[in-house]
Amino acid sequence: MKWTLILLLGGPLAETTLGWTYHYSPTPMNWTQARQWCQTHYTDMVVIQNQKENDYLVSLLPNKTKSPYYWIGITKNHKNETWTWVGNNSTWIGEQSWATNEPNNNFSNEFCVEIYTNSGENRGKWNDEKCINKKYTACYKAQCNTTICGRGRCEETIENIKCHCDPGFKGDRCQTAVECPPLSQPNAYHNCTEGNQTFNSTCHFKCNPGFLMIGSPNVTCEITGAWSGPRPICESYKQALLAVAGCGALTACCCICFCWMKRRKRKKLAQERQPEEVTSPSSEVQG
Ligand code: CA
Repeated sequence: MKWTLILLLGGPLAETTLGWTYHYSPTPMNWTQARQWCQTHYTDMVVIQNQKENDYLVSLLPNKTKSPYYWIGITKNHKNETWTWVGNNSTWIGEQSWATNEPNNNFSNEFCVEIYTNSGENRGKWNDEKCINKKYTACYKAQCNTTICGRGRCEETIENIKCHCDPGFKGDRCQTAVECPPLSQPNAYHNCTEGNQTFNSTCHFKCNPGFLMIGSPNVTCEITGAWSGPRPICESYKQALLAVAGCGALTACCCICFCWMKRRKRKKLAQERQPEEVTSPSSEVQG
């Protein structure tokens, strides 16, 4: 995706047509004030998620030959606590992010982080610093909002935004509902909710005059882009009656067979019992 860069002096740092934008403050301030400044004018203090973003940010910030440099949005409250990014609570720390011999937690109270923008070997590296010191601040302005991705979740990336679509929707902004195959049944017509055949729409079939429906008249377009069930069949009345009659005859045959077999089995059992009844009186004589 192509993007353009517009450099604006005296406030906003840069603006891209897609993806977030980076900005910086015109004056130094302590870390707490710096974050408030970012939240007031933009979205928040910068969050860096990988080395590529780190390098990109440094390439946009004005060079400084000495302190103060720029606050970035990573901090901790106690000595042994994990460094955490304020914007998204991530704990990403690149293997080469810290400057030489940093973080040194000098005087045991360096809980905020600055990024060097000089031209030396530490350019783009981090240093833990006392939060009350005054530095410029680096902010970002998010491009994601609640509506940009339509039916999906928006994710900020360095040069773009990415939409993760809800099930049943597609497109780069999740603007398109998944479509089901066209409906066409012989001797039938149908109407669909909202006039389309996309995810969540239900279509109702009716048969042409002289035809009888076999099956459910409704089908719904599902998340997968498939219809919820088989489409109904419209048979002519004559064929439908023959089908019903055929089914009835088959049922009757089954009933007759079942009854005949049951009766035969009962008769056989009765025949087997007769010899036993004849021999049983002898036991009374012996007693
Ligand atoms: Ca330090």
